[in-house]
Amino acid sequence: MLAERERYIKEEVKKWRFDTIAVHGAYSVREAIENNQGAIIEPIFMSSAQAYRDSDEMEVAQNYQIPNWAYTRIHNPSIGYLEDTLALLEAYGTDAETGCAVTSSGMAAIASATDQFLVKLTKDPAEAINFVAACQVYGGTFQQFNVRKMQERGIEVRWVKDSNNLDEWHSKIDKNTRFLYGELPTNPGLSFFDLKKVVDLTHEHGLPFIADSTVATPALLRPIQHGADIVVQSVTKTMTASGLGIAGAVIARKNLMTNIPNDQLKTDFTTYLIQYPNRDMGWCVSPLQAILSLNDIRTLRSRVDSLSQSAMKIAHYLEQHPKIAKVYYLGLENNPLHEVARKYLRLVDSEYDEQYKKPVNRYGHLMSFRMKGGVPAARVLLDGLKRIWRATDLGRIKSIMTIPAISTHQQMGEGSRSLAAIPPDLVRLCVGGEHPDDLIADIDQALAKA
Ligand SMILES: *Cc1c(COP(=O)(O)O)cnc(C)c1O
Repeated sequence: MLAERERYIKEEVKKWRFDTIAVHGAYSVREAIENNQGAIIEPIFMSSAQAYRDSDEMEVAQNYQIPNWAYTRIHNPSIGYLEDTLALLEAYGTDAETGCAVTSSGMAAIASATDQFLVKLTKDPAEAINFVAACQVYGGTFQQFNVRKMQERGIEVRWVKDSNNLDEWHSKIDKNTRFLYGELPTNPGLSFFDLKKVVDLTHEHGLPFIADSTVATPALLRPIQHGADIVVQSVTKTMTASGLGIAGAVIARKNLMTNIPNDQLKTDFTTYLIQYPNRDMGWCVSPLQAILSLNDIRTLRSRVDSLSQSAMKIAHYLEQHPKIAKVYYLGLENNPLHEVARKYLRLVDSEYDEQYKKPVNRYGHLMSFRMKGGVPAARVLLDGLKRIWRATDLGRIKSIMTIPAISTHQQMGEGSRSLAAIPPDLVRLCVGGEHPDDLIADIDQALAKA
């Protein structure tokens, strides 16, 4: 069955367009009929463990000598369906061989993707370990790096202030550096950098580049295509519109470049994660959540296209409003990062779309802005909303507005927020699937009070 699955992926699935892969992944008619009583939707195996025929099978299975899933903290067939789809979507349009390990949350995915490189290589208690990361990252990531890794474990995070300055990245790398890390576009500041250039620099030093492309999703950006080694996704966010729960994913190419002398880690990073570190840390997702997430991903491309178009319309509206001081949206031509974002953020398969028939740029559904009246005006605007939710979420089919300094990025404190370029009056809008005219009307009436 495993050999048949590999054949099926290689000879059939890999030849499909993005939408077809998103809808079916590697779940074949044959697998449905032979294994799952013909179920057209991937079954949710709500079982904590797998049973074995006899003690011999148990012994080889627990030693990973035969394909098996054993125990849902380690793996589960429903989780496997989601992993297959994500590995294929992130590698779409390339020859890269990828794997995926799904985790309980985006934060667990980031810990899982990074901690494996932050291990001691010598017996020297003073051995220094560092990694280099762009300072504009999601607030939770900032805390995980700054507090959990640096303050608590003594692993140095070397923040890059200007992620478009290659010399700055370069100056922070030394022999104790384990990987480079960047998020693009960033939440909530909508920063962006020239990924390929930073990846090439990382590889010149024999290191892996880890990218968080949660905000873009593989519908707009596939970092693997530009050479990145590992991608982390908060599956909670834009990938899954319905907002039914939390999940994360690590997607990695096979045969990583790294200075960690661990062959299993190098040759097949995500299988290594599943079989050892993630098993031991307990970062597993529920099989129910895996299939709920998978169901949302089936319509990713068309959803990201339509949300991006609404976001563009709202960005133009905000830009001309007299009470708005500045709009941060990568799709706006006057944004200093528009040119670099334009190189990377493209609606996948737009050239095969009857509507477009050519490559089309899309910039996602996240934007931020600042009001001329500062924090007090931002609060009046937020409090005046009637339809858009006040919440700290991203990617929902329902529009959401927040002030990061008092919500998602509150714990960082003023100093770290200023390092990460998050001013106190920044307002973040995540555009949902409502008609953009209704969203503009809601913002307009709230702005009238501010
Ligand atoms: C939300 C978010 C995360 C963390 O994901 P969770 O699923 O909430 O743990 C990581 N990166 C980015 C860019 C995010 O927006």
